Amino acid sequence: MSQSPVPITVARGDGIGPEIMQATLDILEAGGANLDIEEVVIGEAMYEQGHSAGIAPEAFESMRRTKVFLKAPITTPQGGGIKSLNVTVRKTFGLYANVRPCIAYAPFVDTKHPGMDVVIIRENEEDLYAGIEHQQTDEVVQCLKLISRPGCERIARYAFEYARVHGRKKVTAFSKDNIMKMTDGLFHKIFDEVAAEYPDIENEHWIVDIGAAKLADTPGVFDVIVLQNLYGDILSDVAAQIAGSVGLAGSANIGNELSMFEAIHGSAPRRAGQDLANPSGLFLGAVQMLVHIGQADVATKVHNAWLKTLEDGIHTYDIFEEGISKQKVGTSDFAKAVIERMGQEPATLPAVSYQAGETINVKVSETPVAVKEQVGVDIFLHARDAVIDDLASQLAQVAGDMKLNMISNRGQMVWPVGAAETLCTDHWRCRFFAADGQPVTAKAVVQLQDRMVDAGLNPIKTEGLFTFDGEAGYTKGQGQ
Ligand code: NAD
Repeated sequence: MSQSPVPITVARGDGIGPEIMQATLDILEAGGANLDIEEVVIGEAMYEQGHSAGIAPEAFESMRRTKVFLKAPITTPQGGGIKSLNVTVRKTFGLYANVRPCIAYAPFVDTKHPGMDVVIIRENEEDLYAGIEHQQTDEVVQCLKLISRPGCERIARYAFEYARVHGRKKVTAFSKDNIMKMTDGLFHKIFDEVAAEYPDIENEHWIVDIGAAKLADTPGVFDVIVLQNLYGDILSDVAAQIAGSVGLAGSANIGNELSMFEAIHGSAPRRAGQDLANPSGLFLGAVQMLVHIGQADVATKVHNAWLKTLEDGIHTYDIFEEGISKQKVGTSDFAKAVIERMGQEPATLPAVSYQAGETINVKVSETPVAVKEQVGVDIFLHARDAVIDDLASQLAQVAGDMKLNMISNRGQMVWPVGAAETLCTDHWRCRFFAADGQPVTAKAVVQLQDRMVDAGLNPIKTEGLFTFDGEAGYTKGQGQ
């Protein structure tokens, strides 16, 4: 009995988008993909109509209906009031995992790293991308890095499940937990906890700076790499580029309900309308989509035909290399060449074989509720040209039943001890604990701020100092 077509939402995008989408859909159709396509318009036209994220409510409705979005790149206009379409879609639908296979196709596509086969799994929703930024003083702006326990668990679990389903041997986490002990520390801790549940898969952790250097130099030592949002954003582009070309990488943005599949590159406006662009990135995103919607046999067939085409030296301009390539083709002829090879497998490159039922469902455990007590407060002040000892005595005078513990400037302690060389800005963190060592009430913190304002000081924000089951929920000092 034939299955009914799977509904998907398709957007042809801007620039080279329509050409590479047509090529991709032609290959999918020739491979026997069973799709019921709903087309939506996104990008420039929608920005021009005043939709700040380049997407209209009808497109969101289509995505909610189909739960699968195949998206060509769009052109993001410059200027105020413009929001990123990708970030908007990811956040609206909770697309928490960005999956980007970065594979070398040597000797058929020039690369410094033949044999590279790394999958980058990037957390897509948290971290510095929460977009919570403030200017607090004349000299200082801040961006909040928010990392959650369920967010870490979900992405770590997704990475191990992905490894298991795709027959991969090792998952590596990168973080900077030697510096960001609480945020990156939580990510590392949860990674270790989840890793323990997958004894069949090797796991390791690298500090992100040396890990990034190693990835750029010797990618062969990695298999699956799981990263927080910012590191993942940067290193997934590095990985795709060193594998051969950003034009060859596709990505999946996976959520619990809905998923989006795309190329990693942009709309390359200068190449638009010339039938020149390489459709491979979007095509490989579409292959991930086929596996996701349960059409693993079609995914296998079209992917192998594509590998055979690369192997036969039929290349678009971006990967064409005299001496390696055989024929330079445009977008539509590349698609035709893939279609002509439908049913064939590569002879030298490893053939792919996707299995049915490869969908990944991740469940996150309940966060335990800890005994939480406030033991102090960091109050941040805006103070221009402050003399540190004068500021400390002014604070001591208003402290009341609280006691000034330290003052720091950009995380560097300046009182009670400090160095004359430290550059001090107009942004001061003043840490108070209860004088009697007892818990601090929210009211006491408000009253302390009240006294500061009365004394002519300028508090700009507070951060509570809490303990959780007796463990300090704050770093102790100067960026250690
Ligand atoms: P780009 O990825 O569009 O282009 C970078 C370079 O790669 C250009 O030289 C281009 O010609 C080449 N290139 C990209 N894709 C190619 C392909 N498939 N075949 C052959 N060559 C290809 O990046 P950009 O120029 O920085 O951005 C152009 C526009 O795309 C901007 O408006 C940007 O905001 C947008 N953008 C969109 C997305 C998206 O929709 N996901 C992602 C990145 C950039």
